[in-house]
Amino acid sequence: MTVDLLGAELEEMEAFCQSRGIPRYRARQMAEGIYRRNIGSWRELAVLPRATREMLAAQAPLPVPTVVDTRSTGDGTVKYLLQLADGQKVETVSLAYTYGTVACVSSQAGCRQGCVFCASHVGGCIRDLTAGEMLAQVQELRRRAPDGKIAGVVIMGTGEPMENYAATVRFLRLLQAPYGLEMSPRRITVSTCGIVPGILRLAEEGLPVTLAVSLHAATDELRSRLVPVNRRYPIRKLLEACAAYFQATGRRVTFEYVLLEGINDSPEEAKRLSAMLPVKWGHVNLIPVNPVAGRPFRTPSREKMGRFADILRRGGLGVTVRRSLGQTIGAACGQLRAHPFQEGN
Ligand code: SAH
Repeated sequence: MTVDLLGAELEEMEAFCQSRGIPRYRARQMAEGIYRRNIGSWRELAVLPRATREMLAAQAPLPVPTVVDTRSTGDGTVKYLLQLADGQKVETVSLAYTYGTVACVSSQAGCRQGCVFCASHVGGCIRDLTAGEMLAQVQELRRRAPDGKIAGVVIMGTGEPMENYAATVRFLRLLQAPYGLEMSPRRITVSTCGIVPGILRLAEEGLPVTLAVSLHAATDELRSRLVPVNRRYPIRKLLEACAAYFQATGRRVTFEYVLLEGINDSPEEAKRLSAMLPVKWGHVNLIPVNPVAGRPFRTPSREKMGRFADILRRGGLGVTVRRSLGQTIGAACGQLRAHPFQEGN
């Protein structure tokens, strides 16, 4: 039986060492090796005695995902399809911003939420990813980043992180750990479709990461049609949970709003949204929809999006309009997984 140590926290690494007769202080060297230094194999960890390295390579081999597809745009977005140890494939996106590379990480292989404009749930949810598999996505991008660094992480790939809560929180801890990537929680965003108990729980973890909530509508009637989980956690309950998150962490909450032409982009919807969202701690991220093959959704015109944003701004809300990344490479939200590259492309 081999052990998977990628995803283990320091204390677990220490327990492992103890169980194998390795001195406890080696655990920190091991953790720094796989997390901070990002080694691909224990054999690279020269600080360990050769015998220990060989033992680890045999008994706790590090699973390194293989990149099976890559697509890039001219704007610095690169989308990778990674194959995990069991053959499952997940998408990871590298986004180039002026301040550095941001990794967009998947939390599940597939998704069970069924948001109507998203391709991630095509084929259902196959399984949760482990914390190690989430971290491996970041590490893969780190290997390829021009400066070897990841400036931020957004859990906005395939899957619903709150449905894979324990692994997600473990992943967040590893990103921040002093023996890990030493990343500030301010550089990390967890995006959820609105699983209220998950938001409340995350508020109490002492991990003040940015919470992003996929709102997409200002009424329950419309939101329940677009984001089915709204039937379980309606808007009022969701906003209460967001308020609690702000109270506990002091972090502004981002409300994501995918603009769908003729569906949720009217001035009336903008006014409702503006009346409903808290100016003090809410921020709106407007996202032009990435059209998915076979779905009837279109991006509103630039003017219409501008008018929508203006109404929110007049109401005092902070608004950003996301530049649409990845559209030209058929790589929006779950699309690469659903329609992978043909071989040889
Ligand atoms: N399950 C989480 C995180 C993954 S989705 C969540 O729902 O937040 C990340 C963001 O991309 C969400 O706001 C989601 O609604 C949005 N998204 C999904 N499909 C999209 C599409 N076709 N175009 C634009 N944004 C999309």
